[in-house]
Amino acid sequence: MADYDLAIIGGGLNGVSLARDAAGRSLRVILFEQGDLAGAASSATPRLIHGDLSVLERRGFWRVRRALAERRIWLRIAPHLVRPMRFVIPAHSEERPPWLLRAGLYVYDGLTNRGGLPPSATLDITHHPVGNALKRPFGTAFEYWDCVVDDSRLVVLTALDAAERGAAIRTGARCVRADRTDTWRLAVVDRGYRRAVTARALANATGAWTSMVAETVLRQPQPAMAAMQMSQIVVPRLFDSENVYVFQHNDGRLIFARPLERDFTLIGTVTHAFTGDPAIVAMPGADVSYLCDAASRYFRERVAPIDVVRTVSGVNLALASARGREGTTLFHARRRKAPLLTLFGGDVTTSRLRAERAVTKLTPFYPMSPPWTAGAALPGGDFAWDRFDTEVDLARDRWRFLSEPEAQRLVAAYGSRLPAVLGEAKSRDELGPAFGPELTGAEVRYLMAHEWARFPDDVLWRRSKLGLTMPAADRDALAAFMAGVS
Ligand SMILES: Cc1cc2nc3c(=O)[nH]c(=O)nc-3n(C[C@H](O)[C@H](O)[C@H](O)COP(=O)(O)OP(=O)(O)OC[C@H]3O[C@@H](n4cnc5c(N)ncnc54)[C@H](O)[C@@H]3O)c2cc1C
Repeated sequence: MADYDLAIIGGGLNGVSLARDAAGRSLRVILFEQGDLAGAASSATPRLIHGDLSVLERRGFWRVRRALAERRIWLRIAPHLVRPMRFVIPAHSEERPPWLLRAGLYVYDGLTNRGGLPPSATLDITHHPVGNALKRPFGTAFEYWDCVVDDSRLVVLTALDAAERGAAIRTGARCVRADRTDTWRLAVVDRGYRRAVTARALANATGAWTSMVAETVLRQPQPAMAAMQMSQIVVPRLFDSENVYVFQHNDGRLIFARPLERDFTLIGTVTHAFTGDPAIVAMPGADVSYLCDAASRYFRERVAPIDVVRTVSGVNLALASARGREGTTLFHARRRKAPLLTLFGGDVTTSRLRAERAVTKLTPFYPMSPPWTAGAALPGGDFAWDRFDTEVDLARDRWRFLSEPEAQRLVAAYGSRLPAVLGEAKSRDELGPAFGPELTGAEVRYLMAHEWARFPDDVLWRRSKLGLTMPAADRDALAAFMAGVS
């Protein structure tokens, strides 16, 4: 008998979503990630959970409707990671006239049961705080509501849920060979040790590596795919209001600018074809300038490449025939050959549904329980989304040393699991050494014990974004601390 029902290669959003779905449907699951969870494209997404107006523009009504239904599900199952936010789109007549925007938002409103989110509206931004950061010519804007998400924490908490339902999650484990007979026999280099694992089915969820893995590890034919790079920039915070701006650049593309943590703004995205090694993705200078120019058209404060504190880029594959937001699922099964699932691309909003549909393809091969992921909260997400502020207040009541912004960060990251991080601490000193203004030894220990963090970058960039504000000396101290935790 095979060791597992399903082995998954790749610990990005697609891989962990498969692991969660399959583990909860009583399959024996193992997932191998060569580096850290969300170490590649899944921590470089636009971080939006949305219907996507640009899809509506291409008359993708059903896709928008499906995505908006998923948005509702995310708010229910991950109210700590997914936050509703006002989106503001300044109106001017150059590319998309105001009547077109108004009509589009009317349709957008009608495509979903909004689940408590307000309908779209017209704003006079000469007298509204959201207008303060914008240049004068923009007198009118439209607002609508969508959601923002912490993409890499979504990956980690999805993996945590999978693990709590029985999946084995192995990070630092690279699959180097997989032989296909009536089962799969995998060779994995797992933290320096070679091990063999057998599985009844295999999923290749290796993102930008998909065709390379298919060719060199699985030795299975794959259709032609194109690699695409998506990039964003991080600059010091450009506006005080808590909203996302959606701008129309002069080439017609929609560009967004959203708050990132407390002190930064994330601006994106620019997408183009990619060639090269997906492990080394750099944002070209021309793309940085493009996003700076787009932002400078709208914000009073000019944005220049010198202001950019970080660039964020990821690569994924797309079939030439299907560059849709829902990604691509290929399923291959033949007599006496164990099944192979290949899952790549797609956006964050539809990732849960994509995994559910992919795992369902295995139903003829295994007895398994019905789809379930839409109804079960992710770890820490067992409260209603409109109680987020109440959860923050409760946290401040219980741990009186927390400031409001700290409590907000911690509730957004851990939700109702915060007691497992802070315990019964009565003061900050009881949480161990401090790294930078906010990170404590207790939080680092929790992340290492429960969330597969091994190195400083795992903590500073994927399980939090504290890398944006951490001084170099504290980072070195964090590395020494983590090396000492057994
Ligand atoms: C061009 C482009 C457009 C996008 N558009 C959107 C968008 O509109 N909206 C949105 O929300 N998101 C968008 N995204 C981001 C998208 O959400 C991500 O692509 C998504 O997170 C899917 O990730 P993944 O799991 O397929 O790949 P990744 O996150 O890249 O994960 C693959 C993982 O496989 C691992 N791996 C590779 N080889 C091996 C091996 N041999 N053994 C073990 N592990 C291995 C890698 O280390 C990596 O961590 C876009 C991305 C790109 C590149």
